[in-house]
This record gives sequence, structure tokens and C-alpha cells, in this order.
Amino acid sequence: MAMPFKISRTIVSALTLAASVSAQGQLNGFPANPYDPFCAMACIRSLSSLMLDCSSMGQTIGMMTMSTTSECWATNTPYLTSLAWCMHTKCAEFNIPQSKLQRFWETDSTGQSSAGAVTVPAKWSYAEALANVKQPVTMQLKSTDMNLNTTSMVSPDVYLRQWNVLTMVQRETTVENSYGIAMLVTGFGLPILLTILTKIPIISTLTRKLKPYLIYPSTFGTYSVRPLPYLLGNAPTVGQSLYVLLFIILNIIFTCVGYQSRQPSAWYANRYYEILSFVMYRTGVFGYVLAPLVFLFAGRNNILLWTSNWSHSTFLVLHRWVARIFAFQSLLHSVLALYIYKREGMYDMEVVKPYWIWGIVATVAVTVLTFGSQLFVRNAAYEIFLISHIVMSAVVIVGFWYHAYDLYKWMGGYHIWIYCIIAVWFGDRLMRVARVIVAGGPRRAKVTELGEGYVRIDVPGIRWGAEPGKHVYMYFPTLHPLRPWENHPFSVLQTTLLQAPTTRSSDSHSQTSEEPSVPADVEKNETLTSHVKHVMQKAANRPSAGLTLYVRKSIGMTKYLRASDSLLTFVEGPYPNNSTTEVLRCDRLLLISGGIGITALLPFVSNHWNVKLAWSIKESARCLLDDLEPMLNTIPDKDVRIGSRLDISQLLNEEIEAGWERVGVIVSGPGGLCDDVRAAVVAAGKLGKTEFELEVEAYSW
Ligand SMILES: Cc1cc2nc3c(=O)[nH]c(=O)nc-3n(C[C@H](O)[C@H](O)[C@H](O)COP(=O)(O)OP(=O)(O)OC[C@H]3O[C@@H](n4cnc5c(N)ncnc54)[C@H](O)[C@@H]3O)c2cc1C
Repeated sequence: MAMPFKISRTIVSALTLAASVSAQGQLNGFPANPYDPFCAMACIRSLSSLMLDCSSMGQTIGMMTMSTTSECWATNTPYLTSLAWCMHTKCAEFNIPQSKLQRFWETDSTGQSSAGAVTVPAKWSYAEALANVKQPVTMQLKSTDMNLNTTSMVSPDVYLRQWNVLTMVQRETTVENSYGIAMLVTGFGLPILLTILTKIPIISTLTRKLKPYLIYPSTFGTYSVRPLPYLLGNAPTVGQSLYVLLFIILNIIFTCVGYQSRQPSAWYANRYYEILSFVMYRTGVFGYVLAPLVFLFAGRNNILLWTSNWSHSTFLVLHRWVARIFAFQSLLHSVLALYIYKREGMYDMEVVKPYWIWGIVATVAVTVLTFGSQLFVRNAAYEIFLISHIVMSAVVIVGFWYHAYDLYKWMGGYHIWIYCIIAVWFGDRLMRVARVIVAGGPRRAKVTELGEGYVRIDVPGIRWGAEPGKHVYMYFPTLHPLRPWENHPFSVLQTTLLQAPTTRSSDSHSQTSEEPSVPADVEKNETLTSHVKHVMQKAANRPSAGLTLYVRKSIGMTKYLRASDSLLTFVEGPYPNNSTTEVLRCDRLLLISGGIGITALLPFVSNHWNVKLAWSIKESARCLLDDLEPMLNTIPDKDVRIGSRLDISQLLNEEIEAGWERVGVIVSGPGGLCDDVRAAVVAAGKLGKTEFELEVEAYSW
């Protein structure tokens, strides 16, 4: 019978996490200490598992369990006097003010009110209980005692074990929160810090020189936008993998260092189990701490897109990698818990408890998220991936919430991380709705079939979209009535950019030479009339303000796009793809495009004085060329090919030979083209003759 009782008492004391009210809702160690003062908490823990006159016995899963109600503790004289005496003697050496001990007495002596339990106030105050102690106290409890029926001194051995476990657990939770916050700050702050550093001239010059070596190259051959063989995923660039590597190293170090053990312990049989349990706690906490970062990096409204110069595609790569680390920590936590509880013989008892069940639910959801979001799944059924990703993410949050709540209620501050996740996630969703509203809500778009699977979509009345490096998400709710929320990213052009240059030049010509802006006195009335007519005519000819998209139909929603004069449309955006600051500062822009990728590049034409466009299309995309011809005619330096490939190295060599100091290369098109350009820019950059700034506007993430 001794063993089950011992376990039962351990569990009772472990779960009866009496804590001070000051610790409620705060993060352990920042500044919460739920065991403060340790001496008083160790006294409670030394007495709370003893059988009182008013305690009751029950049976769970084949073992006897003792339970004592708050009312029982509140009215039991031996318990109250023994507790008061223990606090008086054990806390004396720490000079703890009486007021603090009284406060502790009120919040913890009869149960864990700080953890949300409804408790009954003790019949005496701390001072009254102390006054009721009949001195000298001679009854000395032993560690094997199970009953308390007179004022007694706690067992020194039991007290020491409680003291050891409380101080060590508090130390460990403080350490793990510090490490977690350090990782979070690093993960969040690094993009901002590096962006600020690149504003310092000397560092900026250095990083520009290092880019062909440390930032642009891919880590796996030339694979970057192209998927790795067997659709294993997308290889990160060297720059991205440096961040990932740093994060992995931080996780390994913070998971491995800084443990301390103090034996004998009330909870852990030996040093091995103590440290292993701390690793289990720490990996669990890291799961909570990393989750907000995982959600942030995936968001369209990730604040780092505006506070750093890192691109959305980079954050999506980091989202996947940080999520893998997060999943690994969560799995490790679960496996360790399983191992420890099995070895300690507590598994059967714990497995039915809500906290365990929710922990398993969250772990399974994290596993499904990790494997269910691999590239082959995204490619096979993007919308199914998306919906399952959202549902499983919600399951993880709910699982995390109840896992922590059932264990600790509001203690430890775990819910703070969940609030962060919810703020990041719902903040993103709210911003999406806000952007749709700001963009004018429902609009009627004109869809024109250009032929060969290409359509042009004109959305009138929107006056932004001329800035380069932006994309929007388009909703066409009537295309797919069963999935009206479905939306897809597209590059945008200002419709006015596409107007025929002849209109522009004849307009300006007539403005400057044919018709004076102020009519002559002699023919005042006639000239005025003709001037008004001309202005009205110009207004009628002027293309209306709006956004234009060119879409190559794919296998999902876009395949339903048909010619229409009033397709119900919602526009969400604009969102930045890449930071354009550095490329626009270059002496020259080389725009390299394949097929439909041209739409991402054309806005650069009107934003830089020295542009060369190289565009290659298949014969089937000639309709695109025809529609864009008026605008293309405004670009003096261009190389447009139908049915033949661009020679990327040749294009870059021409820029080097022309003697440009700094050339911005922006590529948009099929994955193969994007990767070839990346490799060629890396090679050309290493020659050191011309500095190349690279931006890849890939149409896949
Ligand atoms: C920044 C950006 C700009 C783009 N600009 C253009 C453009 O101007 N013209 C054009 O024709 N295409 C563009 N695309 C590609 C376009 O988004 C996809 O072709 C379109 O989503 C396919 O939708 P679908 O339902 O027909 O096909 P689906 O079968 O749903 O998707 C086909 C593939 O498109 C990708 N995809 C689908 N939905 C999304 C999404 N919500 N987010 C990210 N990727 C998704 C997936 O990789 C999927 O495998 C752009 C993509 C990106 C990321």
C-alpha cells in the first residue's frame, strides 16, 4: 500500500499548486514566483498531504487516495496551528514581513485560490493561529507519518524535499522563460536589426559585397523557386538558411544548458528524472513561446514586412522552418512526458486527465500540420491544404489553452503566449477585412479573354497599384459559389500605365504647341469653346483609373474565369512582395521575365529612368504581347522573344560591359528562369566588376 500512497501524495502535492495571488496571470520569473515565499509554501506542501480528522478516503484506479477540502483545512485546528508554527520557525531566517506571511495565509493556506479554486477562509488569521499554538511544540512528524491530529513540527526530511523541489522548479521555469523570450526577441528582432544595420553606409557597402556569397546563392545547387527533387520542398537561400541555422543552434543550446538539480526532491526520485522532467517542461514551454512567431511569419499582415526589408517569400520560408522547430519541441515534450510518466507508473492515472488529452490533441494537430503542409500536398490540392491548415491551427490553439489551463489555471503565464498567437492571427484576419473595405468593398470587374488561357481583368476606380513590387489578393465569390472566400495572389498594374503612347504624345503635343493654354483675346469665345471641347474629348479618351491584372488560368478557381462586364470582385491589398528600395537605387534596372511574369515587372518601368526589359514568351502567349504592346512601345531598351529562350549570362555580361556600377536585376516568371537568373547573378556578382542587386518575384511560395 505504501507505493500507491506515495504516488498519490506526490500527485496531490504536485497538482495542489498553491501559489500567491501576486503570481496570478504573470509569466514565471517575470516577475511571478508562485511559490513565494518558499519557506511558507514548503510548509503547506509538507502538511497538505497529511490525513486530517475531516479528510476523506477514496479510490482511483486501484489505489487509495486521500482528499481534504478547503473547508476541512479552514477549520482544522491541528493543521492551522502546525502550519502557522512551521511558517513562524522556517521563515524566521529570511526576515519576511508579517504582512506578507498574513497575505500568503489568506490566499494559500486553505487551497489554491490563486489558481482559480474556490476556497474557504481559515477560521483564524496567521497571527491568531500562531497565538493558538501551545508551546513548546514537541510533536515531531516523521516522513512516514500520514496523519495530523495535533500541533506538530513538520518532518525535516519532507520539508527539505519540498524546499528543494519548489526552488528548483521556480528556477527552471524562470530559466526556460528567459531562454524562450531570448529566442522570440532574436527571431522577431533580427530582421529589423539587420535592416537598420544596412542603413549604416559602411555596413551597407560590406553587405552589398557579401550578397553573392552569403545572401543570394541557394543552399542546394541552383534550386530555390523550383522544388527540390521528389517535391521535397524549396531549398532556402544561404541568407535564409543562416537565420534558420541560428534558430536551430539557439534551440539546441537553450534546450541543453542551464539545468540544476537539488536532491532529495519531493517530486523526482533522482537527479536523472529531475533533469529529464525539466527538459520536458522546457521543450513544452518553447512550443508555447515559438508559436506566436510561427503565426506571425505566415501572415499577410506580418508587421515585419513593413519594419524590415525582408520579403514575404522569405518570411514564408522562415515560417516553415520555425514551424518545424516548434513541432520538434512539441513532439519532444510529449515523448518525454510519455516516457517519464510510464517509468514512474503514473501513466494510467494521467492519461485520462483533460490536460493530458488536450496535450495529445495539440501534439497530433501539430504533427498533421507539419506533414500535411509539405510541398506535394500544397501542389496537389492547395485549397484543401489551406483549409486543413487553418482548422488544425485552431485545434492547436485550443489544445494549448486547455493543456495549460487544466494544469495551472492562470499560473505560470502560459496563456500570455496564447493571447499573443490570437492577437497575431486575428489581427491579420481583421487587417485583411479592413484592406478589402479600404479598397472599396465589392466592385464590378471587366474580364476579357485574350485567348490561349490568358485573361485580362480590369477593376475600375482603384487609384493605387502603380508602385512596383506589390501584389493583391483577388476574390471572385461568384466563380466558386461553394467557396466564396477563396482568394489568390496576383501582381497589379495601374490601368493608365497601359494606355497607348500615341494618345499621350498627341495630347501633350496639342497641349504645348497646337493650342495655347490661355486663349487669345480676339477669338476669345470661339477658342474658349474649342478648348473646353478638347478638354472634354481628352477626358473621354483617357483610360479610367483602375487596376489591371493579367491572369494565366490554372487548375483551380482561375480556370472558371470567363469574359464578363461585371464580375463581382473584392480586392485585398496592396501587399509588398520584396523591398524595392535597393533595386530602385541602382544605376540601371534589368527586368527579366518569362510568360505571365511580365505583370510583376511593368510597374518598375515607370519608376526608374534607366530600364532594360528582357521578356521571353511562348507562341501561345502572343495574345499577352498584343495586349501589352502599347505599353511595351514606351520602353526603348527591350529584348522580347517569342518561342526562344533568353541568354541570361549574355544579358548580365552586356550590363557589365556597358560599365554600369550597380545593376538591379528583377526576375519574374517560371521557377527555372528565376533560379537560372539567381545563379547567373551570383556568378556575375562574384566577378566584382559590377554590383548586382537581385529581387525574385516568384509566382509561387
Ligand atoms: C506574389 C504572386 C503574384 C502572382 N501574380 C500572378 C499574376 O499576375 N498572374 C497570374 O496569372 N498568376 C499570378 N500568380 C500565380 C497565381 O496566384 C496562381 O496561379 C493562382 O493562385 C492559381 O489559382 P488556381 O485556383 O487557378 O489554381 P490552384 O490549383 O488553386 O493553385 C495552383 C497553384 O497556385 C498556387 N496558389 C494557389 N493559391 C494560392 C494562394 N492563395 N497563395 C499562394 N499560392 C497559391 C499554389 O502553389 C498552387 O499549387 C501570382 C502568385 C504570387 C505568389
